[in-house]
Amino acid sequence: MKIVFFGPNGSGKGTQGAVVEERYQIPHIETGIIFRKNISKGTELGEKAKAYIERGELVPDEITIPMVLERLKEADCSNGWLLDGFPRNLIQAVRLDEALRREGAGVDLLIEIILEREIAKERIMGRRICVNDNNHPNNINIEAIKPNGKRCRICGGDLKTRDDDQDEAAIDQRHDIYYDTRNGTLAAIQYFKDLSDSSGIPAIVELDGKRSIQEVTRELASRLEKLEFLNSA
Ligand code: AMP
Repeated sequence: MKIVFFGPNGSGKGTQGAVVEERYQIPHIETGIIFRKNISKGTELGEKAKAYIERGELVPDEITIPMVLERLKEADCSNGWLLDGFPRNLIQAVRLDEALRREGAGVDLLIEIILEREIAKERIMGRRICVNDNNHPNNINIEAIKPNGKRCRICGGDLKTRDDDQDEAAIDQRHDIYYDTRNGTLAAIQYFKDLSDSSGIPAIVELDGKRSIQEVTRELASRLEKLEFLNSA
């Protein structure tokens, strides 16, 4: 099962992604995390990516596309994968589709969390990251997942902010890319929706990101349940 997962920064994509990963037992590949790990380890890739990430710009396609396509060839991806944060623009979508077609495959499922830009921004600024587990959701601007004092509401771990989460210019820059319907992420989404219209694949699941995390999770689970033909893919 090959899944691409879309949603603007701040839409709860990371949390819902963990739900999909658990359900299908496929690796959850988050390009932002791959880059951040490389930065903290001081690798050459990290060095190259750092300045772009700090400015909220996309890391150039010449670096990002081969990095992701190589990752998808690793052994743990043999039964599929959940891609999160990629493709982020039209070119990445086309390159991914082309690479899969060369192997006689394609994206099976597209999941999109739809959320207005202003709400997404407020959520990003409230986001707190648990040092023990990136998938422990904490947000000072969302009642349901407020931290426990200054600690993670799930495990009590220390919380930190991501530098790029507190930088409004960087958030706006990231959202400019996401909401760009010509070349950006919305264009990448449209590319797969057009494929779906013409061939029926990938299956499309759209979710309303304004609802609570639990409601979105329930909706996602029930929509996936209905895609029975994919559950055995
Ligand atoms: P994220 O954690 O998804 O918000 O990603 C953090 C940063 O990593 C982004 O703002 C970009 O600078 C970079 N990045 C993540 N995914 C991609 C991608 N598909 N293409 C280019 N840059 C990316």
